Amino acid sequence: MEKDIIYVIGHKSPDTDTLCSAIAYAALLKKKKINAVPAVYGDLNPETQYALDLFKVKDFQKVKTIKNKTVVLVDHNELSQSPEGIEEAKVIGIVDHHKINFSSSNPIEIDVKPYGSTATVIAEKMMTEQFKINKQIAGILLSAILSDTIIFKSTTTTKTDIKIAKELAKIAGVDNIKTFGIELKKKKASLSGLSAKKVIYSDFKIFELADKKFGIGQVEIVDPKEGKEKKAELIAELNKINEEEGLTFTALMLTDIMKEGSEVLIAGDKSYIEKAFKTKIESDSLYFPGMMSRKKDLVPKIMEIA
Ligand code: MN
Ligand code: MN
Repeated sequence: MEKDIIYVIGHKSPDTDTLCSAIAYAALLKKKKINAVPAVYGDLNPETQYALDLFKVKDFQKVKTIKNKTVVLVDHNELSQSPEGIEEAKVIGIVDHHKINFSSSNPIEIDVKPYGSTATVIAEKMMTEQFKINKQIAGILLSAILSDTIIFKSTTTTKTDIKIAKELAKIAGVDNIKTFGIELKKKKASLSGLSAKKVIYSDFKIFELADKKFGIGQVEIVDPKEGKEKKAELIAELNKINEEEGLTFTALMLTDIMKEGSEVLIAGDKSYIEKAFKTKIESDSLYFPGMMSRKKDLVPKIMEIA
């Protein structure tokens, strides 16, 4: 084990919440004289890069493995979503907003709240502990909240997310939260120029239940035309991934931020989604009005029937 350094790290296929939460939480630990390093595994998406550039944040480490490292996991707690090397890492803490699917042979510190983002959990903790949030940290935490809650439109949004975001916006000097949120989301909400594989893996998670494994990706779009143009290519790639990874089914949520709903493209065994939503899927996809969140509107329904 590497001595003394604690790596604060989120899930693979990093999103804005995962990296910004890691950076902010490491800052909070450092204030407590803990030798914490914010880290990320995998390439940053354009939205995250935009937020970091805008608020001039670049102090984090890119790691290729967390093997033999002491880690605090943020924004996830399922080992299947953790960076490479998790089996040989020492997890000493979790800060998250997802359902718990974690077990440990020794006691660890867990801070999980049913909020719309991990950033909200951390910002609230900072405010309670009277940690002085600077403009940079406020900016990236605000970006993370707006990203995960899809500018408060996601069904996962809570009153606390909105309240904390408003306070952070004041510190960050963001006058219009919605305008800023749309600007931020637009950076990622485009499929053009990306391969189907890149689109799917930009935010892809594997969920396990007994001996079944489901892969579910999610991308946000602002223009439904883009989804239509790429559909055949995306379905072909989903079929390939489903076979290669040996999954029960592989799905992709094309979430339309403006229309507020998701078209779900599916490869493999469709019966789980059909049963979960009491519907019949004739082709390879179906539009679900109001479906905005993978973890709230899709995954639990599948887990219930699986
Ligand atoms: Mn995340
Ligand atoms: Mn999150």
